[in-house]
Amino acid sequence: MQPYAWGSRETIARLQGRPVPSPGPEAELWMGAHPSAPSGLERDGRRTTLDAVITADAPGVLGAQVAARFGSRLPFLLKVLSASKALSIQVHPSRAQAQAGYREENERGLAPGDKGRNYVDDWPKPEILCALTPFEVLAGLRAPADAARFMRELAVPELEPLAALLAGDRADARGDVRATVLARVLSWPAGQREALIRDVVKACHQEVDDYGPYHPECGAIIQVAGDHPGDLGIVASLLMRHAVLQPGQAVFLPAGGLHAYLHGTGIELLANSDNVVRAGLTGKHIDIPELLKLTDPAVEVPLIAPRDLGNGIAAYDTPAPEFRLYRAALGAGPVTLPGDGPRLVLSVDGTLTLTAAGATLKLGQGESAFLSAADATVTAAGPAEAFIATVGG
Ligand SMILES: [Zn+2]
Repeated sequence: MQPYAWGSRETIARLQGRPVPSPGPEAELWMGAHPSAPSGLERDGRRTTLDAVITADAPGVLGAQVAARFGSRLPFLLKVLSASKALSIQVHPSRAQAQAGYREENERGLAPGDKGRNYVDDWPKPEILCALTPFEVLAGLRAPADAARFMRELAVPELEPLAALLAGDRADARGDVRATVLARVLSWPAGQREALIRDVVKACHQEVDDYGPYHPECGAIIQVAGDHPGDLGIVASLLMRHAVLQPGQAVFLPAGGLHAYLHGTGIELLANSDNVVRAGLTGKHIDIPELLKLTDPAVEVPLIAPRDLGNGIAAYDTPAPEFRLYRAALGAGPVTLPGDGPRLVLSVDGTLTLTAAGATLKLGQGESAFLSAADATVTAAGPAEAFIATVGG
């Protein structure tokens, strides 16, 4: 359990049947083998951790193919994420960027746990977030003309030069102008920040009161301003695409996609990494030059609908090689679980009965199981709703 300050004190506790509210914020429940917080499990009557089990026998646990592709590392990490306050505006690196950044920070002599690190490992961190409740996000950047319209709708004089830049953008320079404007916002002169933020928030209140065309995003920005007063991320939010994911709907964040999760509970599946470069809305380490370097203004950040596979099972397709997410709405009859190789199964509603080679395991709501590559054919019965994480194609 990660107790980050933005976490909810109710949702994950309720999911796991513990007393509500929890003693402190509970932001992310991790299931997987990341070395900084691996899952615990029992092997031969002994408590151990999933990363230790995998290290001891990667081809046996992950399967020969996955071990050949990813080494002795479980390629994915599964989370329940519950935000009652906005998370940082952030971006994640590609594999090449993570390798270069991790090496460079090691060469500079930053210790593994140093708070000044951007790179805690040398892996990329693409991620998919699937909403369990309505989940409000800022994900990807607006088209330049749309960002210009939004700024002009707010009629904040300080923003007009930026709106003019965005509105005058030519198609062939599209990525660049948004990067320029983002850099200007995040490096706004210190003495003028307070006034800018105050004017933007005031204009957002006006837009909501007038029920103007941008009132949903203005409502979100007012919430962000309440969560993180005085933060330039409030102004950067104007450049970002706003969406409210409905339960079952997902968003995929490839490397370079700027995003901030604002409010809600969801299942997140990501490459097995904790590499986050942040621009604001956080007390954690911020590195704006590195964020601007990694942000790809033109990268597509798609919303993803589940693809029905029958038998109550649906897949969320992404191009990430490290993971694939499935959702299963199971009745009382047994259904063969999708995927193969290493898998994580999490019950989010009801009790799930897993059967493999004659052995049975019951998972209560909020409990999860790891299936090794040797557990080839596994059936599951409910009534229950579950998420299954496996390796991508
Ligand atoms: Zn992220």
